[in-house]
Order: sequence, then structure tokens, then C-alpha cells
Amino acid sequence: MPITAALPQENLWIEGRRSPSASGKTFFVVNPADGKAIAQVAEGAAQDVEAAVQAAARAAQGPWGSMNPRQRARVLFEIARCVREAREELALLETRNTGKPLADSRDEADVAANCFEYYAGAVSKFFGETIPAGSNGLDVTLREPVGVCALIVPWNFPMMIAAWKLAPALACGNTVVLKPASYTPLSALKLAEICAQAGLPEGALNVITGPGAVVGEALSSHPLVRKISFTGETKTGARISKLAADTIKRVSLELGGKSPNIVFDDANLDLCVEKSVFSVFSNAGQDCCARSRAIVQDKIYDRFVEAFVARTRKLVIGDPMDPKTQIGPMISAKQRDHVAGYVELGREEGADLAVGGDVPRSGALAKGSFIMPAVLTQCRSSMRVVQEEIFGPVLCVLRFKTEDEAIALANDTPYGLSGSLWTRDLGRALRVSRAVQTGVLSVNTSTSVYLEAPFGGYKTSGVGRELGMKAMELYSEIKNVFFSQEC
Ligand code: NDP
Repeated sequence: MPITAALPQENLWIEGRRSPSASGKTFFVVNPADGKAIAQVAEGAAQDVEAAVQAAARAAQGPWGSMNPRQRARVLFEIARCVREAREELALLETRNTGKPLADSRDEADVAANCFEYYAGAVSKFFGETIPAGSNGLDVTLREPVGVCALIVPWNFPMMIAAWKLAPALACGNTVVLKPASYTPLSALKLAEICAQAGLPEGALNVITGPGAVVGEALSSHPLVRKISFTGETKTGARISKLAADTIKRVSLELGGKSPNIVFDDANLDLCVEKSVFSVFSNAGQDCCARSRAIVQDKIYDRFVEAFVARTRKLVIGDPMDPKTQIGPMISAKQRDHVAGYVELGREEGADLAVGGDVPRSGALAKGSFIMPAVLTQCRSSMRVVQEEIFGPVLCVLRFKTEDEAIALANDTPYGLSGSLWTRDLGRALRVSRAVQTGVLSVNTSTSVYLEAPFGGYKTSGVGRELGMKAMELYSEIKNVFFSQEC
């Protein structure tokens, strides 16, 4: 791997300080747009996890856990302000590390800031209740922190998903150990510095970089970790659940998806196509909510495919630092080859490749892990390309005749994260949105994630919810106290 001249060295973040790993080992982080190393990062292991968890446990008992909630909210507001101030630096870091277009990274820095702001405001609006239980006293519930939380995040939206977890965890008074994905650890380390600068006490946030099979597993089985919030693959989520079971940790899982995009023949087709192209190809398709199965009514199937393919051909794929670029590279050559393999599999299974799927082998794009967005038509639900999460820019198009058939197709995968439906018939929109088994659904749009609203999956797409006030519930314990009046 070509190493750039003065490669920045990044350490773990434990108790408010940068620390090398106990083993002294490091690993390289690469820019997927050109394959060059951009940083050398400390490789943590069990000993480092131990130090981070102990630091978090001390902060939970001490400065953060015991802080007046109003002060806690002020620190979170200040983190939001500092994230905004560092927007450009964070966006550049994220783009160099993930390959996503710079405009997308800027948006994600804004989402991170908004998320800290939302939960700063939530601190004062989240409280227990009084309950009419018995006539000889008073029954009240208290909301208390869970304790040390392990937050394990993936590489597709590293800064944004870290903020989704950090902000509510800290708002509830918990302390955390954050484990970023090994492909993309840089923005998490920068966020830790920003939080310290904003006044977050030492130990309230610790970051341990290193392999999931070592760092993630040590966190998932550590007895002092009381909650795990994980985003990633379904099979990793299953493994974490098993490890966490021995010490009965609270576990929230945001896992894979194969989201349906149901298009009825009365839909606003222009709007639908414009939005749908980005709903599956943005972030190079590396999106758990990617609407990767277009389920299209017979009468408009050909028109949909024709318009979708034409719009796909116009997408600007290239250097993520170029402001005109809409789609960047995939996270790694390995992931790109994995996706190219699925395009090939689709053809073997009998689908038609209407556009894309090729890997540039010459010119500037050949240096990065690029693949051209692909559309597979004439798909059937039994195909592996339709059932399995490809996690890349590949759309599978299926055909239906009746509303019942559309619902059956939409529900015919093990996943249930998100989905869209396009129709101008309000009654149908209501019926279908009730029948589709997903945690989030959007009608006549592709946007289904709002900071203020719960986000998460049905079936094998997860357990629990992120965002909104629901996240506050899942980062806190309820204590019920009965005060007898006879004393
Ligand atoms: P992985 O499950 O491979 O990794 C996610 C995180 O878990 C990384 O930090 C990884 O570390 C860590 N990890 C890996 N193995 C273990 C283990 N045995 N124990 C504990 N931690 C472990 O997912 P990807 O990074 O490949 O992310 C893509 C997946 O994430 C897709 O399936 C996608 O659908 C899903 N996702 C779901 C979202 C949702 O909200 N539902 C949102 C975004 C993505 P390391 O990097 O070091 O391997």
C-alpha cells in the first residue's frame, strides 16, 4: 500500500487523553478514492478496553453521572456548537476516510450537531411519573442512567451514527466507550477531542479503535458494560447478543435491510424516479435504508425502468472532493468486488442488467474502489440478489399486479428496516403502510430518518429504536419508588 509522506498518527482516547495501544500495534487507514493510506491508528485490544471501561465507570460515579442535568445539557449544547465550528474539518476528514461526496459529509456534520442539540434540549423534558398505586402513599418513577454504554458503529455513516448514539447516551447521564469501524475511525477520534473541548469531563467518552473481533467482543462481554448499542451487520448483531447475554446487558441493534420501494401506477412517476435513484445509489448504496428492491406495478413497469435507467446514466460518479460528484467510491476494493460478484450472480440467476455494474479499470476512477450503479430488471423474489443485503449500488426491479401482491413481495425478506410507497390514493397508502412490516416507512418520498422520530427495524433488522425520545428511554433505567405515608 502506498504510504503518504507525513502520515498522521492517531491514538486511542482514554480518560480525556490520547494513548497509544498497550501493545504498541497500529493499523493503516486508507482513502478509498485513491487507495492511499491517510493515517496510522493505534490498534486497541482487551487491555485497552479494560482501561477505557474503568475510566467510563469512574466518570459514571463521578463528574458526569453526578452532574446537575441543566449543566449536562449545557455541555451538550456546547458540543453542538463546537461540531458546527469544526464542520469543514470534520467533513474533509470524513470524505477522505469514507469516499463520500464532500457535500454529503457536510450534511452529516450538520446532522451530528443537530443531534447533540436535540438531546441537549431533551435532558429537561425527560422525567418519571407519579402513579395512582395504593391509597397509603405515593408511587413515583425515576429515570436513571444505565451506566457504562458500549457504542459500536459501522463505516457507512461513521460520524452521524456515532452522534446518534453518543448524544442520547450522554444526555441520560451515561458514560461511553465508542468503538468505530476499523475502516473509518478518524471522525470518532476528532469528535472525542471536540467533546473534551466543549467541557465533557474526562472518562465520560472514551474511544477504542481496533478490530471488532477483539475490541468489540471485549466490550460486549465486559461485566461493567451495562448497555450495548450496535449498528452493523445482522450476523455481527447476533454474535454481540450472545456475548451480552451472559451479563444480561441491555442491547439495541440496528442491523441490515433490503428495503422495498413500492411504486403504484398512479404515482407521480417523475418525482418517484428522481428520489428513488438517490434512495438506492447515494453513499454508493452503502446504506442500511437503501431502497434496493423496486416493486413496480405492471402498467408502469417499462416506463419506470426506462426513466430510472436514463437518470442513472446521468449520475456524476467520481472524485468525492469535486463539488459536482454525486456518487463516490465504495469503502474498499474488497467491498466493491463483493458487490460486483452480486451483479454477476444476478445475471446468472436470470435478471437482466439494464445499466452499470462495471468496475472502471482505467483512468482516474481505476485507482479507487468505484463501481458503476447497476439496475437488475426482471427480478424474482426467490433470487439471492433480491433476498440478501448487497450493501452497494445495485437496484433489483420486481413486477406486481395487485395491491396484495405488492405487500407480499415487500414483506418477503428476512429484513424489515425501512421502505417507501408511491401512490396518490390515500386509502391505499394507509392500507399498505399498515401492512408492510418495517420499522420506518415513507409515503411519496424516500426520506425516513428524522432526528425527532424513532428509527429502527422489524424482524432481523434490529431490536430497539434510535433517535427521538424513544432513544432516551433505551439509554435509561426506570426505578419505581413507593413512599408509604405511615412512618
Ligand atoms: P459490521 O457488523 O461488520 O461492523 C460494524 C461494527 O461492528 C464495526 O465497528 C466492527 O468493527 C464491529 N464488529 C465486527 N465484528 C464484531 C464482533 N464480533 N463483535 C463486536 N463488534 C464487531 O458491519 P459493517 O461495518 O460492515 O457495516 C455494514 C452493515 O451495517 C450493513 O449490514 C448495514 O445494513 C448495517 N447498518 C445498519 C444500520 C441501521 O441503522 N440499521 C445503519 C448503517 C449500517 P471492525 O470495523 O473493526 O470490523
